[in-house]
Amino acid sequence: MAEYDIAIVGGGLTGAALAGLLKARGKSVVHFAPVMEKDFRTSALMMPTVEFLQDSGLCPDPDALGYPLRQIRIIDATNRLLRGPEALFDSREAGHEQFGYNFPNADLLPRFQAFADDQPGEITKVEARVGLIDRQDDGVFVITDAHQNEHRARLLVGADGKKSMVRQQFSFEFDEEQFAQSALVCDFEFERSIGDCSIEFHYENGPFTLVPAHNNKINLVWLDQHKVLNEALALSDEKFEKLLEDKANHLFGHAKLLTKRFVFPLSNLHMRVAGKDGVVLVGEAAHAFPPIGAQGLNLGLRDVESLIEAIDEVSPQKQPLTRADADRVSALYAAKRTPDLIKTGGFVDGLFKSLLSDFLPAQLLRLSGLWALKSVSPLRKLAFKIGMGR
Ligand SMILES: Cc1cc2nc3c(=O)[nH]c(=O)nc-3n(C[C@H](O)[C@H](O)[C@H](O)COP(=O)(O)OP(=O)(O)OC[C@H]3O[C@@H](n4cnc5c(N)ncnc54)[C@H](O)[C@@H]3O)c2cc1C
Repeated sequence: MAEYDIAIVGGGLTGAALAGLLKARGKSVVHFAPVMEKDFRTSALMMPTVEFLQDSGLCPDPDALGYPLRQIRIIDATNRLLRGPEALFDSREAGHEQFGYNFPNADLLPRFQAFADDQPGEITKVEARVGLIDRQDDGVFVITDAHQNEHRARLLVGADGKKSMVRQQFSFEFDEEQFAQSALVCDFEFERSIGDCSIEFHYENGPFTLVPAHNNKINLVWLDQHKVLNEALALSDEKFEKLLEDKANHLFGHAKLLTKRFVFPLSNLHMRVAGKDGVVLVGEAAHAFPPIGAQGLNLGLRDVESLIEAIDEVSPQKQPLTRADADRVSALYAAKRTPDLIKTGGFVDGLFKSLLSDFLPAQLLRLSGLWALKSVSPLRKLAFKIGMGR
């Protein structure tokens, strides 16, 4: 049975990005990547993440794949007693041409896979789910795939999403919270363009966000209660288009639906220690939260970046990674990730809960926060920094 330096479980965006970067470093890798259904979502990636994609070679040409996001407009559309002012953020205030780019996930994944194919070195790709992982007395992992084939590896990476079996099997501590809200996504266009501005209408049960994409297309991310979204799913296209116009306060004319509608249930998953004893977790295996403030994949790609740094620090390129190295990598990775997991998780959690709160003091706090963000320059700068993942 072949023994690899590293096993990656999961072929989503984080697993695929990691596979190519490890192959480029001459590590021997087995990658369990069952074929996924097409992901119709898009991901807003902020400039620090885009720069990582460019510098690492994962996506050297963001303009070709992504649509630049230059402005963010927040409109308080609630019926609450206390409503916030409309706020507009412009990337030039933060000294950037754009905040980031909006990428179709279905274009990013083949781009990451093509990057891996182009790297020198070898990778064993297994298009089957992992069924079982056993740890031997010498610490090596024996991984059995769905075809009952066994593979041995010294470092184990769980990139296997929100329901991660790696996280469960190796008893990582985490807190999870299911929300009464889901997210509805689809693509459509309005008669009038929204330009390069992402527009968030804040309603009582979550934001209704319009994210600009190529060819005047808009990616909708609408957070609301499951019941409301299920009713919206059942509407005819015509009635749904009317609903889109209503929710956008009739600011942009008629809506035309371009794709099917999909609903994703929402939950929070927080952990502090994302690596131990030769096992590490990246992406949604290590953290999940509602898609507000565009943080999930940004954080997942920062996990990938930190793991690569940890491996480079512990094990020289083109040399095998020993069992002792694997333990050092997991400890170093955990130390690098903990502050970011706490900061980003807390930021999104606080933002989401303040949006939903009917509690008057919380509304007041959010309101004064919006006024302060609208008018106080150092606070705006801080908000830019946190939102961009710095
Ligand atoms: C509506 C919505 C909008 C979003 N928008 C943004 C955004 O604008 N910006 C942003 O930064 N983030 C956004 N996110 C978050 C982002 O989509 C996720 O963070 C990202 O897709 C997670 O990627 P991943 O690779 O960690 O996990 P996944 O994409 O879940 O991949 C996990 C993979 O592991 C595989 N797997 C699972 N179990 C096994 C097993 N036993 N064996 C082998 N393989 C296994 C699965 O098949 C899957 O392919 C959004 C999320 C939602 C829900």
